[in-house]
Amino acid sequence: MQITDRVTELKGVGPKKAEALARLKIRTIEDFLSFYPRDYEDRRNRKRISDLREGEAALICGKILSMAKGRGFGKKRTLRISAGDGSGTLEIIFFGAAYLEKTLSKEAEYEFFGKVTSRGGRLQMVHPDFRRKAENEKTGQAAGILPVYPLTEGISQSEMRKWMEQARCYKDLLNDYVPEEIRERNRLCGLSYAVGQVHFPEDGQKLRQGRFRLIFDEFFLLQLGLLSAREASEKCKDGIAFDPRVSMEEFYRSLPFPLTAAQKRVTEEIEKDMESGKPMNRLVQGDVGSGKTAVAAGAIYKAVCSGYQAVMMAPTELLARQHFESLSVQFAPFAIRVGFLSGGLGQKARRLLLEDLAAGRIDLLIGTHALIQEDVAFSRLGLVITDEQHRFGVNQRALLSQKGKDSVSGVPRMPDVLVMTATPIPRTLAFVLYGDLDVSVIDELPPGRKPILTEALDENGRDAAYKQVRRAVSEGRQVYVVAPLIEDSDSLECRSASGIYEEIQKKFPDIRSALLHGAMNQKEKDGIMEAFSRGEIDVLVSTVVIEVGINVPNAALMVIENAERFGLAQLHQLRGRVGRGSAQSRCILLTQSSQELAVQRAELMASTGDGFLIAEKDLEMRGPGEFFGVRQHGLPELKLADICRHRKVLDLAREEAKRILEKDPWLQDSDHALLLLKIKKMFDSADGVCL
Ligand code: ADP
Ligand code: MG
Repeated sequence: MQITDRVTELKGVGPKKAEALARLKIRTIEDFLSFYPRDYEDRRNRKRISDLREGEAALICGKILSMAKGRGFGKKRTLRISAGDGSGTLEIIFFGAAYLEKTLSKEAEYEFFGKVTSRGGRLQMVHPDFRRKAENEKTGQAAGILPVYPLTEGISQSEMRKWMEQARCYKDLLNDYVPEEIRERNRLCGLSYAVGQVHFPEDGQKLRQGRFRLIFDEFFLLQLGLLSAREASEKCKDGIAFDPRVSMEEFYRSLPFPLTAAQKRVTEEIEKDMESGKPMNRLVQGDVGSGKTAVAAGAIYKAVCSGYQAVMMAPTELLARQHFESLSVQFAPFAIRVGFLSGGLGQKARRLLLEDLAAGRIDLLIGTHALIQEDVAFSRLGLVITDEQHRFGVNQRALLSQKGKDSVSGVPRMPDVLVMTATPIPRTLAFVLYGDLDVSVIDELPPGRKPILTEALDENGRDAAYKQVRRAVSEGRQVYVVAPLIEDSDSLECRSASGIYEEIQKKFPDIRSALLHGAMNQKEKDGIMEAFSRGEIDVLVSTVVIEVGINVPNAALMVIENAERFGLAQLHQLRGRVGRGSAQSRCILLTQSSQELAVQRAELMASTGDGFLIAEKDLEMRGPGEFFGVRQHGLPELKLADICRHRKVLDLAREEAKRILEKDPWLQDSDHALLLLKIKKMFDSADGVCL
């Protein structure tokens, strides 16, 4: 019996169920034990029917007195049950589930657990959990706090619980990786105890104790991982000191515009980093349109003119190509040779490009994830830039910097690293999240930009929105229309890009429109995007593929359908696609929901263009779990821990992480071997995800 045993060791888990579990990323018993409930059902509240109160969740035990099917045909009819326990009767309703009539038996006793609601003054339970009471069973046996797990197709809640009961027998095999001293100082319970309580809590107090421990662990590992990466790069003396005689200023003089004060400040910070012998590790945060590319270009200029190569990675082909095109032009006067590498490149072209790169005949290589591949070798890599950092994992960034180490000629050195993101992170939290990076902020937009006028409309506003589309096009402007889905869907009530595209073609046969979405192949996407940026398409209907970095200054109107389905930060990014030129730009948020939260969100978007403020509010309104998802920041997933709500635990964990690294910066002590393993595992699973 080992913690690494496959799940198939559990009774009732065959190959089919194992496959379903794998979809939940559960492969071993250990995975199982760290698959935490998303909620709990408190079944200790066992009540007589006469004592039930509206609004509470309770467990009752009653005999089925009658069953009746509602009107209609077939299995989809509603089943109404009357259950009684001597003290009274309760109505139990299963909508569209008349088939249950076959499962349930009249006159038999069942336990029902659910929320008590009332209709017409009568109490009822809708879709309660139920189970048949065994003949000789004593009342009260199943009462307790039961875990509620996230599920996937083919697995039921009761199966999960049954398997977890079995998996729980393994919990004592879990090695506690947190050193005892730290456990004592922070009054943490043992790991196996915590795991036991989180799955099957004995009471609320013990559950809190268990959760506290596991939340601490997640923060502790996260902070150790982030801080040790920083420690490692700070201790690394093998950085590159770029030539102080090469001035970024020379390059900036060649641009058609002067830098903003914020850009200037950030480029100075970068230049200082680059001239020092320590490897640079800097994050540049700047709202959409704040001019991050120009900042990156200065750094590239400095690296290349000091005799090194630079590489720039972007999350999408579209964006990479756009950088390639604009930087090729900007660097042409300086004879800086720019190459482009993407997955779509042909065999031969790719080979030639890589030869040139390895021989040092390319100074700047721009591309997508394709850059990380093993055979991409540089001759003197000195600078690594990742654009829209939040799309990449911590790991992918690290992999790219590794390329400096195995350079063919010269001494292996750590290249300088610059990461850029437009996802504003609330100032208070950036430090924690990017524990391994110095942070620069471009908090100013280039002059002459007019704020994007944003208005939120409900369903009835679509006609008004279409009028604006018409007007913008007749004024020679271009328009984006964004929808959450590609195709219409039966299960989701929201608009699809394909549907809207058809509608627009019908409504405006004279307007040149096109459809763009993630399921199209790269060539098609590129073709459409290029046509749009050449001005050959007036209205581009798309999914969120246009979210990142696209720059078409003539686009002055954006209509976002089902705006309630997007996060605030994402809306902000989308909106940033317009307002890039001199024309007054507009954004219309169409919302199908009249819920207060949706209205508040829309109002906020309409009232401000400040990405940082929006990020803070996003945090407050949506809850940090979503905001700080892996996707957004390339960080390992936190399962229980919540950066905002558990701020105090985070501080404790951070202190402990620092304390441990002070004594043992590389975690080489044998006492820390388990810890190191855990951190590796946590960060390995955080490979970046792309659209
Ligand atoms: P982002 O920060 O979103 O990546 P970009 O680098 O794409 O922004 O810049 C947006 C636009 O602003 C580009 O067209 C760029 O040429 C222009 N730009 C950048 N800096 C300035 C500046 N200081 N003054 C005027 N225009 C600028
Ligand atoms: Mg950009």
